[in-house]
Amino acid sequence: EPLWGEDDRPRLGAFGPVKVRVPAKINLHLGVGPVRADGYHELATVYHAISIHDELSARAADSLVLTMDGEGAGELALDDTNLVIRAAKALAEATARPAHARLHLRKQIPLAGGLAGGSADAAAALVACDALWGTGLGREELAHIAASLGSDVPFLVLGGTALGSGRGETVTPILASGHQWHWVVAVADGGLSTPAVYQRLDEMREAGEAPDPIGAPDEILVALRQRDPAVLAKALQNDMAPAALSLRPALRDVLAAGDAAGALAGLVSGSGPTCVFLARDASHAGTVAAALNASGTCRDARVAHGPVAGARPV
Ligand code: ATP
Repeated sequence: EPLWGEDDRPRLGAFGPVKVRVPAKINLHLGVGPVRADGYHELATVYHAISIHDELSARAADSLVLTMDGEGAGELALDDTNLVIRAAKALAEATARPAHARLHLRKQIPLAGGLAGGSADAAAALVACDALWGTGLGREELAHIAASLGSDVPFLVLGGTALGSGRGETVTPILASGHQWHWVVAVADGGLSTPAVYQRLDEMREAGEAPDPIGAPDEILVALRQRDPAVLAKALQNDMAPAALSLRPALRDVLAAGDAAGALAGLVSGSGPTCVFLARDASHAGTVAAALNASGTCRDARVAHGPVAGARPV
């Protein structure tokens, strides 16, 4: 269902503005293997798209302009370094057309939060410009451009729950049972640089200070099929957590507050500093979020559910 349907993409450019919604991701399992010859770590991950969304609107123009509001406005550069602009340009180049569009980003995914917000925006830009321009590119070609923009971008086009391998760019959908999982997302003050967290993990492993790598996500795959939050809670694991905690020791207080609030499990999201908590149901998630907000250990605790669809026009 969240797949980028070859048939529902327009062959002709859109007339009116195109609006695309894209989710944030968490990793239900994030196994980090050794560093490869190309400098990337080999990953074995389970991606899960959750209901915290950025929204990108695109309309016809005779140049490329990006504006934004929301999370990170005033902080995030809107020039060629922004992943929205990089994605629009990559798609234009691949299809030999001018990168002309007026783009506006409404951002709810926190910056450098371990929720892949930048990758989400790149995925949204690919889908929006594809629709605006009517590129006629196939799914394979779009996935290839997505992978060139960042390891998480192909998943954010796909959405749902999926296995990620390679450096994360090779994604395989995990058939959803239709079950919705309920999460509380504790947003931190300030971000963490993903490369810095990988570097810290490498240092800790070299010094023998890191736990053994968690390896393949077999346990999570079994747990997902059981539709029981108490079972899923026991299977959530993240190799990057010790490194994120080492760089940001205060995250221990966030995890402790979620535990005290009755969450079934707490987990550092990706490279952090966002922490996510599994709840029994929507009402339990509301209770946990309220307790986390009252604890003063995070900037903002939000409820979310998953899986949700990847980047798509609304
Ligand atoms: P990941 O989990 O994929 O490592 P993250 O959630 O930790 O990502 P992001 O918010 O995706 O972090 O982005 C990290 C950096 O990417 C930002 O600090 C910023 O410098 C750069 N960046 C470029 N374009 C964007 C964008 N549209 N949104 C957010 N960050 C962007």
